[in-house]
Amino acid sequence: MSKNSSIKCDVTSCKHNLGSEHYCSLDCIKVGTHEANPTVPECTDCLSFEKKCGCN
Ligand code: SF4
Repeated sequence: MSKNSSIKCDVTSCKHNLGSEHYCSLDCIKVGTHEANPTVPECTDCLSFEKKCGCN
């Protein structure tokens, strides 16, 4: 995995996350929302998230 310096991310339980560097390793991610009318950052989600194995 190599760091994508354009995508900062703190979600260390994601298998695409470079935990110590707080960056994503994907070339591209997809962001979506679970709200009908998103108004704050908490309304958005990274849809490229995949759970890292063995990190329960
Ligand atoms: S896929 Fe999404 S949640 Fe996972 S490291 Fe990349 S930006 Fe973060």
